[in-house]
Order: sequence, then C-alpha cells, then structure tokens
Amino acid sequence: MGHDEEVFIREAFASNWIAPLGPHVDAFEREVCQFTGAKAACALASGTAAIHLALRLLGVSAGDEVLCATLTFAATANPILYQGASPIFIDSEKQSWNIDPTLVAEALAEKRRAGKLPKAIIAVDLLGQCADYDTLNAVCAEYSVPLVQDAAESIGATYKGQASGRQGRVGIFSFNGNKIITTSGGGMLLSDDETLIEQARFLATQARDPAPHYQHSTYGYNYRLSNVLAAIGRGQLRVLPERVAARHANEAAYRAGLGNVPGVSFMPTASWSVSNHWLTHIQIDPASAGASREDVRLALEREGIESRPLWKPLHLQPIFAGCHAYLSGVAKQLFANGLSLPSGSALTELERQRIISIVRAALPSAKSSSSIS
Ligand SMILES: *Cc1c(COP(=O)(O)O)cnc(C)c1O
Repeated sequence: MGHDEEVFIREAFASNWIAPLGPHVDAFEREVCQFTGAKAACALASGTAAIHLALRLLGVSAGDEVLCATLTFAATANPILYQGASPIFIDSEKQSWNIDPTLVAEALAEKRRAGKLPKAIIAVDLLGQCADYDTLNAVCAEYSVPLVQDAAESIGATYKGQASGRQGRVGIFSFNGNKIITTSGGGMLLSDDETLIEQARFLATQARDPAPHYQHSTYGYNYRLSNVLAAIGRGQLRVLPERVAARHANEAAYRAGLGNVPGVSFMPTASWSVSNHWLTHIQIDPASAGASREDVRLALEREGIESRPLWKPLHLQPIFAGCHAYLSGVAKQLFANGLSLPSGSALTELERQRIISIVRAALPSAKSSSSIS
C-alpha cells in the first residue's frame, strides 16, 4: 500500500459509504479512464467477473465457441464455461509469448469454412507484456469477431505508446492481491463503447429495471466493487508508476546477475510493448544449463524462497481435456523450462542478490561465467 489508500478509506468510513457503489467507485472508474484514455469503465468485484460480463455482452452463449490464449491462468477461460460455450485454445508466438495471430487466422478461416465463427477472441498480456494487437485486430476485423483483452497482468504497460487495456473492443484489469496494484480483490471492465459499459453496470447490479419496485427482465449478478475497496484502488492507481519502476528494477537486476549464464534466457521484449514486468521470468534449458527449472525452484524453496513455474497451458489442463486447440508447441515448451522469479515491488537489492546467488549456485553452467553486476 502507498499513503493515499488509508486517507481514502477513512473518507469512505466518515461518509458511511460502505456499499457496492458510492463516490469512490465513481471516482475510481473516472481515474482509470483518465489513466488509460478509455471512454468508459465499470469497477467490478474481480477480473474474472469482468471477463464474464464481457463475454455475455458480446453475445457468447450456450453452444458457442471462443478462441482463447492457451498460455494463461484458468480465470481467462473459466467464464467461457460459465456461458455454456467452448474454448478453442490458441498457442503462443515467440516474440511476446502471447496468442499467435497466425494461428488465430488459421482457426477463423477453418471455422468460417465449417459455417460457424467463434463469438469472441480472448487475448492475454502474459506477465505484463502486450500481445500483437495490430495484427490481431486486423484478423478480427476481417472476420468481424470481437477481441477481448485480458490485461489482468498488464496494467501500467503500454502498447505502441498507448495504455494497456485499450487494444481490444473491451479490456479487463484485475486488482487481485497478487497483481501489480491491488484492492485485495477487484476488477475493471473498460471500453470505448459507453453503451456496453452501461449494460455491464446494469448486469453487475442484479439487472434491476428502472422502476420504483424490484423489476427484472433478465438475470444479473452481484459483481460490483465495494466503495471501500475502490478507495484503496484510487490510492493504488497513484503509486502504479512507482510499482512499475520497482518491477523494472527487479528485471534489470536479474538480467545483470543471470543474463550471461549459459542456458538461461529471459522473456523476450516484443518491439510493440513496454511491459510492466509484473513478473520476471527466466527459461532454463537443462541441456546447456546443466540443471532444470525444477532444480532451481527446489534450491530456492530450500532457502524459504518461493518461485513458480509458468502457467501450465490450458489445453494441457484436465478440466479442458478434449477441447479443440491450434498448437505449435511453443506454450508447452515454455511451460517445461519456465520459472518466474520473486518479483514483489518491495524486494530489496540485498534480497535480489541473495536470490541470484542461489540460482547461480544451482546452475552448473554458472560456474564458468561471472556475474556482470
Ligand atoms: C489474475 C488473472 C485473472 C483473474 O483476475 P481476478 O481479479 O483474480 O479474478 C484473469 N486473467 C489473468 C491473466 C490473470 O492473471
């Protein structure tokens, strides 16, 4: 937490606005619009709720199909199931590790030939780096299929100078506790389509028709963010640039300390994106490093330090077994060798150096190379 969060929370208490709406919710939405340049935004209980509303508002329903990046957290795809639709998983390209536009084009061409196009495409900005949106949007336009940008991990990143979250027809952010800024739990749906965001607000508050009594013509959800949590979000938005700078410092330190170790490579930097470096991620090639990512993970664990494998691709998850997928093998390979290093905004230089020495000690290939820093 920064400083303003507590000030805003006290204000929420003083005004007795402890409800899933209120002045902080409105202000948080306005400020996210200012920060990103989006025309409208709706604050929600979670990023997952935002994806769910996006899919429902784009008309995804039972029996439909949705194209979805495979290299991501399950929360990206679960809302497809909530709608009774089926995901079709798309592999990663090598420049940003995000959804491969070539495979998207292949899938859409095949689906058109079969007579039924998917209702939507969900792209994910993996670990804070944006997908190849110009290429994706061109493909989406060709087939008139809307793009949902799951920017849960990439708030504060940019795509060709534009704030992340604005590259699809709708974008979503997450303010879950593990993200770069947090409201403990929370999310945001944003779009330049103000009508769509109005509809999201309606569905997120139990779909109450405008009437003095309780009147419902459709079913809704209890998905709105509390005024207290929005107060936290407003403070967090103010420290976002500092948080991004802290994550960049983590990445730079790890690159300096591990960049020259044979068999270790970092997530590539795509020309179109400036990542927020939510997580610093390395690939460990066991053949040239002399140890596997699991060896390194366990070495860190023995010292009480948590690191994590990359997301296990969704097409390999038991819950999604049997789902249709367009694969090149990239995501599976990245999962096999990938390790996300400790990346908290509060990491000190001393802590980073300790992590680097443990990683180097676990890698036989590091013995022949000296640390740059
Ligand atoms: C965290 C995350 C979500 C879910 O957000 P919640 O706010 O936790 O519901 C969705 N997609 C991705 C890629 C995420 O990392």
